[in-house]
Amino acid sequence: MSERKQAVIALGANLDKPAAQIRTALEALAVHPQIRILKTSSLYRTAPVGYDDQPDFVNAVCLAETGLDGVSLLSVLNRIEADFGRERSFRNAPRTLDLDIVDFNGETSADPHLTLPHPRAHERGFVMVPLAEILPDFVLGKHGKAADLAAALGDEGIVLLDGGGDGKQAV
Ligand code: AMP
Repeated sequence: MSERKQAVIALGANLDKPAAQIRTALEALAVHPQIRILKTSSLYRTAPVGYDDQPDFVNAVCLAETGLDGVSLLSVLNRIEADFGRERSFRNAPRTLDLDIVDFNGETSADPHLTLPHPRAHERGFVMVPLAEILPDFVLGKHGKAADLAAALGDEGIVLLDGGGDGKQAV
């Protein structure tokens, strides 16, 4: 990788064996030649937000190093989502796999195609709780530290599923 940048990626799934989907998505990211996973959170089971009549989600967050720019990384994420058969029927509808860029190297962007940091990540416990697990001191744009955001949001409806992640430095 030439110029290395760090990205925080949020993963979520709530259909078709969601924990397995998250693990397979992490593997798909890890095998990409321009992406290296540095840290992975545990997996969490979380109550749906926005549209209640759907199964619980499984969520996780990872820190990756990449030689890609943000838009190219988003394309990779979209391709992985498509490979997992996601259907975009309506906003907040059940989906097999959702991958978001929470932060890309501290960059800011108001572009609707890639808004940075992710415009809603700071208000989502299912993103902030796993992020605080692996990077408690991570500063998310103007919103402050992950640990403080997670504490403010609380962990209601967010259950540690298993030690799916390593929570520490990858070798
Ligand atoms: P969603 O259905 O919530 O995953 O939203 C997907 C849409 O959000 C796509 O059109 C993306 O281009 C757009 N988008 C904007 N900013 C981001 C971001 N930081 N990460 C992922 N998708 C983003």
